[in-house]
Amino acid sequence: MASLVFVTGGVVSSLGKGLSSAALAAILESRGLKVTLVKLDPYINVDPGTMSPFQHGEVYVTEDGAETDLDLGHYERFVRTRMSQLNNYTTGRIYNNVIAKERRGDYLGGTVQVIPHITDEIKESVKKAAEGYDVAMIEIGGTVGDIESLPFLEAIRQLGVEYGRDAMFIHLTLVPYIKAANETKTKPTQHSVKELRSIGIQPDVLLCRCENEISEEERAKIALFTNVPKKAVMSALDARHGIYEIPMLLLEEGLDDIVIERLGLEVTRDADLSDWEEVVDRMRHTQHEVTVAMVGKYVNHADAYKSLTEALHHGGLRSRTKVKILALESEDIEREGVSCLADADAILVPGGFGERGFEGKVEAIRHARENNIPYLGICFGMQAAVVEFARNRCGLEGANSTEIERDCAHPVIGLITEWLDASGNLEVRSEDSDLGGTMRLGAQECRLSEGSLARQLYGREVIRERHRHRYEFNNHYANVLEKNGMRLSGHSMDGTLVEIIELPEHPWFLACQFHPEFTSTPRDGHPLFTGFIEAALAEQKSAPAAEVASL
Ligand code: GLN
Repeated sequence: MASLVFVTGGVVSSLGKGLSSAALAAILESRGLKVTLVKLDPYINVDPGTMSPFQHGEVYVTEDGAETDLDLGHYERFVRTRMSQLNNYTTGRIYNNVIAKERRGDYLGGTVQVIPHITDEIKESVKKAAEGYDVAMIEIGGTVGDIESLPFLEAIRQLGVEYGRDAMFIHLTLVPYIKAANETKTKPTQHSVKELRSIGIQPDVLLCRCENEISEEERAKIALFTNVPKKAVMSALDARHGIYEIPMLLLEEGLDDIVIERLGLEVTRDADLSDWEEVVDRMRHTQHEVTVAMVGKYVNHADAYKSLTEALHHGGLRSRTKVKILALESEDIEREGVSCLADADAILVPGGFGERGFEGKVEAIRHARENNIPYLGICFGMQAAVVEFARNRCGLEGANSTEIERDCAHPVIGLITEWLDASGNLEVRSEDSDLGGTMRLGAQECRLSEGSLARQLYGREVIRERHRHRYEFNNHYANVLEKNGMRLSGHSMDGTLVEIIELPEHPWFLACQFHPEFTSTPRDGHPLFTGFIEAALAEQKSAPAAEVASL
């Protein structure tokens, strides 16, 4: 049976529960334990798939095609365990399951209630996700005291009783420093623990987010008021050298030992964080710098492209290159032209949906293609690259994606039902699709053509990458695009779907229908991002000296 570590948050949101959980999991993994992580989210959406990135940040996609909270991305970047449908539950999903059971008659005429039916469903979900692991860390979204997280807290309280010594609670709080008074304040932490205890949960560890190390005296005070042993009241300092330093910071505090001791886990190994030290060293001691323009629709929302920005940074690690991300709204390019791309060593168009800003993306891609600037297109960024090439290189005036213009002259990108007609009839139109649940989702295999850039980068013939899209490359245009110099270098295993395009005449121009950012990790990087950043560096070096000097 797995031991359970519950992680709650208090005082304010955004204290970094997800990162702290992931970093602790990384230490435990390095000590030889098999660790998994679960995120319980209090909102009513069944999953974040339909939520705007402005509201909830990126939607992270797992191998098995679950659309999940972005914390699962942190988990996969920090530990080797792969996440799945089992690792993220929302209130909506829990209720959905309970209501489905009620409709099936599973409750045999009983009155279905929050307690015990909803709480039992939560408990079962946690147990299922924990099966087969030594430790399962369960992070509860939101802040203690929120009405909506109560059923989750009640469920974990019950699990705490059921599991006894095999379950523990870590509470993350804020210990603010008040500049005017030159004082560190422990009161919010005291209150937040009081709130937690009032619903029957006594934390075993307090992780206190703070700017400066909390003094002995303050720790003693917090311990006294919260019933938490003093050695388990820990400072969780802001990581000065980026998030991958957090495992080292938590190790320094001895958090892993406290967890292992408290749960009575058998471990034979000391923590070995040398991989993480190497990552941090490469981030801190860079020798080069490149600027990547990221042209998208949600660029001003920090979390909307979380995995992508991480993957870009990972891409610079091998060559010790600092990657500066120039976030550009594609609508700005529509208004002001491509002059805002002047400082970019490379251009990237990420995934996206809908027509707003699409033409700006197409313009940015044209600029990259015509000026030999390395280009990486992801999903929508590949579709826009196909549209751009069709229009400006192949002379297919009015080429577009049917997502943008349903009745365009040349639907080079369309819903598969629109173009995959046995008779080759492009006029076929599908029914309007339902927005939830009609996407191509999750990991699929892709075959790379011999001699292609993609094959060279990956170093193998078959890869597995994750998808999240409805529209596809329209094969009826394959010939004309190829004749004009586009290489279709990756296909689905049955050969029907184009997954990667490249321009062999260009120094580095590659776009893929899948999302490589979801499988990039700091320790291993990702061939496409590493290749992209190194190409940006190579092109920057080959640029005239005057331009380099002005960087
Ligand atoms: N909107 C496009 C589609 O649905 C691309 C989606 C994406 O970039 N993830 O196919």
